[in-house]
Amino acid sequence: MQQPASSRSAGTLTGSDADSLAVADAQRIILNQVQPIAATETLALKLALGRVLADDLVSPMNVPAADNSAMDGYALRSIDLQAAKPVSTVTLKIAGHAFAGHAFDGEVSAGHCVRIMTGAVIPQGCDAVLPQELAQRLNDHTVELPAQSGQPGLNIRRAGEDLLLGQAALRQGRLLSPADLGLIASLGLAEVVVKRKLRVAHFSTGDELRSAGQPLDEGHVYDSNRYTLHGMLVRAGFEPIDLGLVKDDPTAIEAALLQACAQADAVITSGGVSAGDADYTRQMMARLGDVAFWKIAMRPGRPLAFGTLDVNGKRAILFGLPGNPVATMVSFYFFARPALYALAGAQAPELTTVRAISEADLPKKPGRTEFQRGQLTRSSTGELSVRTTGAQGSGILSSMTEADCMIILSNDQGTVRTGDMVDVVLFDGLI
Ligand code: AMP
Ligand code: MG
Repeated sequence: MQQPASSRSAGTLTGSDADSLAVADAQRIILNQVQPIAATETLALKLALGRVLADDLVSPMNVPAADNSAMDGYALRSIDLQAAKPVSTVTLKIAGHAFAGHAFDGEVSAGHCVRIMTGAVIPQGCDAVLPQELAQRLNDHTVELPAQSGQPGLNIRRAGEDLLLGQAALRQGRLLSPADLGLIASLGLAEVVVKRKLRVAHFSTGDELRSAGQPLDEGHVYDSNRYTLHGMLVRAGFEPIDLGLVKDDPTAIEAALLQACAQADAVITSGGVSAGDADYTRQMMARLGDVAFWKIAMRPGRPLAFGTLDVNGKRAILFGLPGNPVATMVSFYFFARPALYALAGAQAPELTTVRAISEADLPKKPGRTEFQRGQLTRSSTGELSVRTTGAQGSGILSSMTEADCMIILSNDQGTVRTGDMVDVVLFDGLI
């Protein structure tokens, strides 16, 4: 991994003010510094769902392996249907049968055809299949077919028309989908080589935090980030390592960072990265690695730490996310998630973005990116419109549970007026 840019370089990039960094710049800097892990493992096909394909998968065969029929009907020589005199039907002799899995062996000669079923290999000599609906069976041995009705290739699935021998059937970095598993199986492969699952350690910091299931003392809050992070990591296909709750105490934070770095490819913390915070997270991160502390021109979220931890030669990338629950999630989705996919050697799945009509004015200052939680509606005429879920405070986690999308107001954009089009990222596939 290259060295992270120092926080000072942030000021030279575009942002709302001198010392804040635009979202797109931070995303670019982060992605530039991530190198994919090399480790792979071989898995039985079923276990590879959602995993990252390690190498291009080159097809060891043609799929389908042989020309075969796309219809139940009659395989024939199309030239036999091009009758010389102007007749409306042609009578052919039935030379035999071809079923899927049971080919007709033998060559079909002029004036002959083969009764054929879908998926059966095209008999030698034949170049077209006429569907049975067009055929008039005269008796067991002869069939009448319309003249001029079959072009060469008609109703034939060509060998290799799905996948061609020697071609890349799937590209490395692909997150294997159900269709991909089927496609790999169609090549006869029962196993597949994937990248090792990315291990991501996470912990929450803050003296005010208590764990769910424990009594809540006055002035304390329950640790929700532990659960949102767990869920987001699992959903993205990574292996979470939950290091729990860590107090704002230098020794405890140091121990947690050391343990995280030893066990994981990436470390995600929440809380304690704002300037002026009374805790030690920043201090310990800076001590154990090369970490930049940014102010991002965004809402929610603003403080973000990014860099590498380096402990006795073992490295891990580090994200210090802001503690406010919505800020944690938004920062994860737009900074950590793409970087973790890159680290995992995967092409990050594209977020589905649509344009929708804003149902209300959305006051906004240019110079920062805003991620508002929204609800999409489709009108009877098919137009998409979006409204916010109400209060958009960065601690209001119910705004995330009520939303089905995020309205993204870009850095340079000003106030949105009712009826204006806005960009919307769907939660479907993300959450
Ligand atoms: P911090 O980023 O540490 O300054 O925290 C910002 C706000 O988020 C504070 O109100 C914290 O109490 C709250 N917070 C921090 N971590 C968590 C967490 N794990 N779960 C819920 N709230 C949190
Ligand atoms: Mg804190």
